[in-house]
Amino acid sequence: MRLILLGPPGCGKGTQAELLCSINGTVHISTGDLLRAAKVAGTPLGLRARAYMDAGHLVPDELVNDLIAERFRAADRPRHFLMDGYPRTVAQAEVFERLLVEVNLPLTAVILIDVKDEEIVHRTGGRLTCPKCKTSYHIMGRPPKMSRLCDRCGSSLGQRADDNAVTVRKRLEEYHQQTAELVPHYRKRGLLREVVGQGDIQTIHSNILAALRPQVGSSC
Ligand code: AMP
Repeated sequence: MRLILLGPPGCGKGTQAELLCSINGTVHISTGDLLRAAKVAGTPLGLRARAYMDAGHLVPDELVNDLIAERFRAADRPRHFLMDGYPRTVAQAEVFERLLVEVNLPLTAVILIDVKDEEIVHRTGGRLTCPKCKTSYHIMGRPPKMSRLCDRCGSSLGQRADDNAVTVRKRLEEYHQQTAELVPHYRKRGLLREVVGQGDIQTIHSNILAALRPQVGSSC
């Protein structure tokens, strides 16, 4: 299975990616997680990306394109993957398409998780994330068993620096201006599968599996 998960920031891409990848060993590739790790490690990439990320802007295309190209040109490149947060512009999608042709790994489908902006602002306000294993929680929708501690690894949960209302609005604006263009781009290529992102986590997961069924079979 070779998928791209598309949708506004905070629509549940990370949570759904986690569920999909746990089924069949597909590799979850999140450019947001890779960039946050680079920021924390203080690498040259992290230092360049920091200002853009903290302001809720997209980082320049060439930074993320290089990051992804390095991963896919490596000998241990994933054969089955789920892209979460990449591509985010048509220019990135075109570079990614050429890269996948080069390594002979055609996409299976692109899943769009559709959620309204007001719901996104509400959801991201209550989002808690594990800094270590990246599991995502929500104070109402998916609370941790122990207050503010990760169920998986026991680390203290925190809020992402860019999950405040002002930055979330900025990220939504960037989504509508740049990333939403990917919807007609992939629809034209016959790859788009649209899923309603309203409801609980399991319902949305089932919707995604149903949308993928014609291609990957009911076991996926
Ligand atoms: P995410 O965790 O996917 O919401 O990403 C967090 C932030 O990382 C975004 O707001 C951007 O600043 C940056 N970022 C992640 N992926 C990309 C990408 N494909 N292109 C540009 N910026 C990105």
